[in-house]
Amino acid sequence: MKKPDTKRLKAMDRLLLWHPFTRMREWVDSDPIVIERGEGSYLIDTEGRRYIDGVASLWTNVHGHRKAEIDRAIIRQLKKIGHSTLLGLANVPSILLSEKLVNIAPKGLKRVFFSDNGSTAVEVALKMAFGYWQKKGHAGKKTFLAFTGAYHGDTTGGMSVGEIDLFVEKYRPLLFKTFRAPYPYCYRCVINKTYPGCGLACLDELEKTLKRHHGEIAACIIEPLIEGAAGMVVSPPGFLKGVRRLTKRYGVFLIADEVATGFGRTGRMFAVQREKVAPDFLCLAKGITGGYMPLAATLTTEKVYSAFLGTSKNPDAFYHGHTYTGNPLGCAAAMANIKIFGKEMVLENLKPKIKLLKQLLKDFWELKSVGDVRQCGLMAGVELVKDKRTKEPYPARLRMGGRVSLEAKKRGLIIRPLGDTIVIMPPLSITGGELEKLARIVYDSIKKATEA
Ligand SMILES: *Cc1c(COP(=O)(O)O)cnc(C)c1O
Repeated sequence: MKKPDTKRLKAMDRLLLWHPFTRMREWVDSDPIVIERGEGSYLIDTEGRRYIDGVASLWTNVHGHRKAEIDRAIIRQLKKIGHSTLLGLANVPSILLSEKLVNIAPKGLKRVFFSDNGSTAVEVALKMAFGYWQKKGHAGKKTFLAFTGAYHGDTTGGMSVGEIDLFVEKYRPLLFKTFRAPYPYCYRCVINKTYPGCGLACLDELEKTLKRHHGEIAACIIEPLIEGAAGMVVSPPGFLKGVRRLTKRYGVFLIADEVATGFGRTGRMFAVQREKVAPDFLCLAKGITGGYMPLAATLTTEKVYSAFLGTSKNPDAFYHGHTYTGNPLGCAAAMANIKIFGKEMVLENLKPKIKLLKQLLKDFWELKSVGDVRQCGLMAGVELVKDKRTKEPYPARLRMGGRVSLEAKKRGLIIRPLGDTIVIMPPLSITGGELEKLARIVYDSIKKATEA
């Protein structure tokens, strides 16, 4: 096979591409890694250098790269058809995948609406929830309730319910009104309480808003158990269950955005299952295809679905859809992904890895710059601070998180920080040995960057 001309590729990248969430002024002066191949937990660049994929290719990869079963499933499907539309036609893989999704989802979620990314999975849930109340004669229920620090994607609806200032501040004039309740970021509690003495006082805040405004609220949207983009903010046990109890009490739908947490990330197939919560909507993307193809699904109940049927005289529809909805290649990959969970007992085998990560993270507390260490399943965040005692952050201009990931690259590990929180989120298939290596590199990189 002809070796790619790395120098030329890099020059062309600088000239032609616009990278997401990237300061391009800095990018064009940097020396990017050009990925050519993957293998298990490793990414391999055009020069043949190997890196541990420490963020699972942005939280998507589940069973490793070049997983034989998923490769084969896509190729097998490709020999039949690459794409056909779900508008006015059905296709085989989307039907079979829906059955599998409904089988593994929390009870009550019996309808599957396909789209192609996490943001669209969220938009669909928001529009269905909104539409439901309009059709049921509750015209006042036209706003949403979301949490502090939330991230639900980059489309306008997703940004409206999201709250990361750096991402959405400039676009406020485009966004719709959203009520905001405190997410339990216990290291920096929004309402200045201390866990567990607080008795989850943040739920009282949520109840206050629900009590006063439930007549205006269509749905409450949450990242269950852990807010990813906020910096791997783990909520204490019982919080999610409390949110479900209160939303039910006040007649507000619950949308579980499991785009990041779905497919085993938290140790269960879905995070809501940890607290035996059944939401009204479940948004899935990232890991659904094992990290292979852009595919997403929004699952909901027959109650919501039937509100969009209309009558035999006046048939109605959910007037929403995306061109690649139910793409057969994506659905074939997703089926293979789910099958592997059963065949290889992925969730059972994950338990010792979660324990090992917990053990490895213990050492991090001794580092001078580590303020907080948070873990939920095989997702972890290490928050760096300038002053451990006062929790004072590093000045933003130091880009401490970025420095740590640069050090990690030199040591053969790809990680991507969220501000000054170092994210650890490898493929679920990572071996114990690889996980130890990863943790060692992160530790050394933090030490090098912060003590330089
Ligand atoms: C990544 C993410 C999204 C957005 O998904 P995209 O595929 O990037 O549009 C939405 N919600 C959560 C919780 C996410 O982590």
